[in-house]
Amino acid sequence: MANIRDLTGQRFTRLEVLRLVKQDKHYNLYWLCKCDCGVEKIIGGSGLKSGATKSCGCLNRELSRKRKTNLTHGYSNKERLYWTWKGMKARCYNKNNKRYQHYGGKGVTVCDDWKHDYQKFRRWALDNHYEDNLTIDRIDNNGSYCPENCRWATSKEQANNQSRNRILEYQGKKMTMSQWADYLGITYGTMNSRIQRKWSMERIVNTPIRGHLIVN
Ligand SMILES: [Zn+2]
Repeated sequence: MANIRDLTGQRFTRLEVLRLVKQDKHYNLYWLCKCDCGVEKIIGGSGLKSGATKSCGCLNRELSRKRKTNLTHGYSNKERLYWTWKGMKARCYNKNNKRYQHYGGKGVTVCDDWKHDYQKFRRWALDNHYEDNLTIDRIDNNGSYCPENCRWATSKEQANNQSRNRILEYQGKKMTMSQWADYLGITYGTMNSRIQRKWSMERIVNTPIRGHLIVN
């Protein structure tokens, strides 16, 4: 062991060489190293010198964990659709979400398929005309996030849908504009134009359509 290059005390990224442990029959040298994380491990000198071994293994574990956080189900979390999915779930299930009260707080849920499987949600989105300028819109605002009740809409369409789902109260009855229209037997268009003309609920309810008084 006269002509070995002594690595004792040298540092290789996270590893500090403590002492030579052995030499195998091919004259490879093995060194006991102490990693910055505290683990001691015997490591071949060639790996140290080439830079192939930088830690006890903790560095690779950290890097792969980091890659996993950046990449969920094989899709980059930069993907807008992924954040749509995350946001939808947060609104429904995270009480700290600032919009929770309008979603989870009102009983809005995400269907099981979507809740647990981003890929299923993604597939539905791509099969249903998803584009990056569209947002997910529940057709019935009281309904849940599920394929039957969702579509991709522009923010203008979504605003329309929200007013369609606006709650109107009259004599203790609370219903959306759509529900009132159904209840009164008028079209949503008629209902909407009356609202736009700032009719009171009393007038809307008591104004007959085609000669019929709808509600007594
Ligand atoms: Zn380590």
